[in-house]
Amino acid sequence: MSKLPRLEKQTIYTSGEHLPISSEDLKAFHVRTRRTLSTPRELSSCFPANTPVLVVLTLLLASTAFLAFSDLSVPRSMISTIDAILPAPAVSVDASCSQLSPLSPPPRSALDANYRKLKTLDPAYRAGSAERLAQAVRIETVSFDDMKEQVPFESDPRRQGFLKIKNHFEVTYPLVFSRLRYPELMTPPPLPRLHLNISHKHLRREVVNVFGLLFTLEGTNPTLKPIILMAHTDTVPVAEETVSEWAHPPFSGFIDAERVWGRGSVDCKNSLTAQLDAVELILEAGFAPARTIILAYGFDEEISGHAGAKTLADTIYARYGHNGAELVLDEGSGRSSRLGIPMSLVGVQEKGYTDIKITVSAPGGHSSIPPPHTAIGILAEIVAAIESKPYTPALLDSNPYVETLRCGARWNPSFDPWLKSALQRIDLFRDEIVKELFENIETKFLITTSQAVDIIQGGTKGSCLK
Ligand SMILES: [Zn+2]
Repeated sequence: MSKLPRLEKQTIYTSGEHLPISSEDLKAFHVRTRRTLSTPRELSSCFPANTPVLVVLTLLLASTAFLAFSDLSVPRSMISTIDAILPAPAVSVDASCSQLSPLSPPPRSALDANYRKLKTLDPAYRAGSAERLAQAVRIETVSFDDMKEQVPFESDPRRQGFLKIKNHFEVTYPLVFSRLRYPELMTPPPLPRLHLNISHKHLRREVVNVFGLLFTLEGTNPTLKPIILMAHTDTVPVAEETVSEWAHPPFSGFIDAERVWGRGSVDCKNSLTAQLDAVELILEAGFAPARTIILAYGFDEEISGHAGAKTLADTIYARYGHNGAELVLDEGSGRSSRLGIPMSLVGVQEKGYTDIKITVSAPGGHSSIPPPHTAIGILAEIVAAIESKPYTPALLDSNPYVETLRCGARWNPSFDPWLKSALQRIDLFRDEIVKELFENIETKFLITTSQAVDIIQGGTKGSCLK
């Protein structure tokens, strides 16, 4: 994990989920995780320092026949009692997760008229906005795994959709395209433009790679740092054999009473068109923001973002420098009710990611005289072995989800009281919290390294061993 970029860089780099970490990094992380977990917690460290309280507590637990104090498996039904007699936590969750007061911009007549379109969900504007998203969904802009290393990449006919969507946006958002600085996208950069070697950093900085979209709405106050709004135009593919299982065809952009259907409608042509809608509205209103607004849209986020987001990030970095942006807003956790009440979660980190390809070769032959174990059989055993050894969960203090939980504990009035109390004494209850989070599929992989076998190929004909 030590090779992860600095946070500032990472937040600019939209495809953080695909950060290039090596299997060595992963192994080191795994080893470290296991070591953390396997260190036996000393019994004495489980007890509060305050002796009188300790005595009362011990007696109480014993009287309810609950003797497993050494691992602090305190049942939920006990927590109000435990909370009452344990010393006050060193850090109360009520002191964490402070929020800024809501900002109310001063009235501006022209802007407010347009703002009302959004705020009151003007039905006509709402329908138009849905249609603009649907149109974007109907343009197939798919990233396939084999596009990752393509150089040059623009000649691949499967990339035609990226030109189409750019042309579509040009028509749909005329003010954005006519008034904002729009760097020439077709400038052929010197090769190797996609090379990740640091020595080419300067070379890449001035290049926005072919399909990347970068808009700059200059603010009136040049001393203010810009804000950067990001999204990506690409989507993942759709397996041909699953098309019939879709409620509506994956690129239909079908609109029913509530939803826009199709690939990209949630990841993330929705935030893309929402941002363009918003900027088109403020331009229409003649609004000139004090702070520069940058829109940066990559086109290969689903295959690591090396050509799109990475190049955009370098370009922006070259212009504005280290810590040169006030805010970077990319797709992320979004709005979640996971903690009981709807909360807008700010994503500040993403997990690392790596692909591992395993190939098994065996001598050819015929199924009438097969060896006891074919290559497919060996591979099946490997897959079974991988699945039989899932990673062990761990809740490290450095995991940002700890803070997310504290925010839930502080601001959600119906937050689970057991979890709140346990969070306040996280060093004592860590194992219990891990158990709790691990049982919920929504939180399980926030504390666990996931692994999944997702592509398998082998064999070309029945009876042929190869
Ligand atoms: Zn996405």
